[in-house]
Amino acid sequence: MSQLKPLGGQLTVDSFNAQTPNGSVPMANLVLRFPGTSGRAIAVTGHFDTKKIPMVHFLGANDGGSSTGFLLEFARVAARMPHHDDLYVVFFDGEEAVGEWTDRDSIYGSKHLAAKWASDGTLAHLKALINVDMIGDRDLDIMNDANSNAGLVQQMQAVADKLGYGKYFIRERQGIEDDHMAFAPSGVNVLDIIDFTYGPNNAYWHTAQDTDDKLSAQSFQVVGDVVLGLVRDLDH
Ligand SMILES: [Zn+2]
Repeated sequence: MSQLKPLGGQLTVDSFNAQTPNGSVPMANLVLRFPGTSGRAIAVTGHFDTKKIPMVHFLGANDGGSSTGFLLEFARVAARMPHHDDLYVVFFDGEEAVGEWTDRDSIYGSKHLAAKWASDGTLAHLKALINVDMIGDRDLDIMNDANSNAGLVQQMQAVADKLGYGKYFIRERQGIEDDHMAFAPSGVNVLDIIDFTYGPNNAYWHTAQDTDDKLSAQSFQVVGDVVLGLVRDLDH
C-alpha cells in the first residue's frame, strides 16, 4: 500500500471473507487503476499471498514473492506510460489453497473480484487479463497454457520472439489452473504467464527451497518486457 499510494492511480482495497475448509478467513485484494479514455480496460494481475505450509519454513520467494515484486514494478512503469485503455494492476489474495488444491479451495481473491467486476460492469470493458505467477525462476520456461486465450498466447510468443526471448517460451500446450480461471468462464480474454517447472522435478515448488537464490533479475526483465510489449500492442 505504501509503495502503490504515491503512484497516483486509484487504489482500492477489496476486502472480503473467504469461506475455506478452515472456516471464514479475512482476505483483501489490492486494485490499482490508472484511468484511460477509450472506455476499455486491460488488467495485469498476480497473487501476493504466500501458502501456509505446516512444519515448513516456507518463504515463497518465487511463489507469491515474484508476482508481488513484478506487479510493484509494473505499477511504477504503468504510472508513467501513455495509454488509452484503463490499466489495472491487481494483487490477488488467497490464490493458494488452504488445504489441497481443488476448484473450491483455491483462487479466492480472483473469484471474488471476478464476481464484483461482473456486477459493477467492469468485466464487460475488459479487453484482456494478463496474470503472472512464479516468473522469477532463474531457469525460465514460460508455459504455453491451454486454459489461456489461444490468440493472446500467440501474441505473447510473437512479442517474445521479436525481443529475442523466444527460447524462454515453451511451445507445447499444457493446461494450467491459476487466478485467470476465475475470469475465463465469463468470456474474458485471459492469459496466464507462469513457469511451472521450478527446480529438478519441481523440487523448489511449495518447499523450503523456494528462496531468492533460485531467482534472477533477468527473468523478471524478460517477463516485464514481454508484458509491457503486449500491453502496448493491446492498448489503442
Ligand atoms: Zn503456490
